[in-house]
Amino acid sequence: MFAPAPQAQPQQGVQFRARAAAKMAAMDLRSGRAFWPLTNGLMYTYPPLAAPEQADVLVIGAGITGALLADALSEAGLDTVVLDRRDAGFGSTSASTALLQYEIDTNLVDLSAMIGRADAERAYHLCRDAIDRVRALTAGLSDDCGFRARGSLYYASTRKDARMLREEHAARTRAGLAVEHLDARELKARFGIQAPAALFSRDGAEVDPYRLTQQLLQRALTRGARVYDRTAVTRLDGGRTWTAHTDRGVPVRAHWVVVATGYEAETFLGRRLAQLKNSYALATEPIAQAGGELWPGAA
Ligand SMILES: Cc1cc2nc3c(=O)[nH]c(=O)nc-3n(C[C@H](O)[C@H](O)[C@H](O)COP(=O)(O)OP(=O)(O)OC[C@H]3O[C@@H](n4cnc5c(N)ncnc54)[C@H](O)[C@@H]3O)c2cc1C
Repeated sequence: MFAPAPQAQPQQGVQFRARAAAKMAAMDLRSGRAFWPLTNGLMYTYPPLAAPEQADVLVIGAGITGALLADALSEAGLDTVVLDRRDAGFGSTSASTALLQYEIDTNLVDLSAMIGRADAERAYHLCRDAIDRVRALTAGLSDDCGFRARGSLYYASTRKDARMLREEHAARTRAGLAVEHLDARELKARFGIQAPAALFSRDGAEVDPYRLTQQLLQRALTRGARVYDRTAVTRLDGGRTWTAHTDRGVPVRAHWVVVATGYEAETFLGRRLAQLKNSYALATEPIAQAGGELWPGAA
């Protein structure tokens, strides 16, 4: 969610916590506007589906997943159609905090216990390599989409978590991943954060996901792909080929269908797999910090 900055500027040198509290009092914390489309504007428009379509592959969903697929499929020479019920890129992609981290939400230690050490390490390495692939992808576009290498800091809230971080550090080091363990004193000195311990990894990045989505869709268009938004798929009929019925009254026929509808994928699975709760991202004007950076190295 994007919260507009307040009019009044806090005085220099005041503690960050006090300033943040003052800002929050003046902010609209629950604006429904997502940051990335607001900051980029509507970069490109796509028509709604107006006539029946036929393709090798239909991709349902024009978020970052659908855009990556459209780019890869069209590059492989497959005739591709992409549909989205919203404006392209306006799903969860527009609300992302834009961090690219190889650390998936389950620690390597825990993942190893769940699926075995070799597979868990492979998952971590694939995620680590994926960041390099996004770097190469953006380097090949005319717009780097704001890709920047960023360190990432993972800190413990409690002493128990600090023990867990030690084990995680050992597991990642054993797996050949470059990660530093910081004790409380080093963490305070390098990042100004008071916590029992942290892991610091240089292998992270950020990228503007909305811009990247748009640039990938544009590249797919140049290879003959078609993108239609404001067109919802209401029913999928399978047989030798697939027919996707839409709320525009005209269908798309395709040999393959990829469902890239993000958090809304359950509709197509036909069964309840997860319970969605709320998640928030907060954006502010850049905050000047007297005596140093608020986040050293923009970690
Ligand atoms: C607050 C927040 C912060 C996040 N921060 C991060 C982060 O820092 N780093 C990170 O990696 N991830 C982050 N994520 C997760 C990330 O945003 C998603 O994993 C990613 O954007 C998913 O992209 P997607 O293309 O799969 O889905 P979406 O962007 O949601 O795209 C799916 C598209 O499918 C369309 N669709 C749905 N149903 C239909 C239908 N029936 N017919 C046609 N179209 C349909 C939707 O309109 C939508 O545009 C965050 C998520 C949230 C909510």
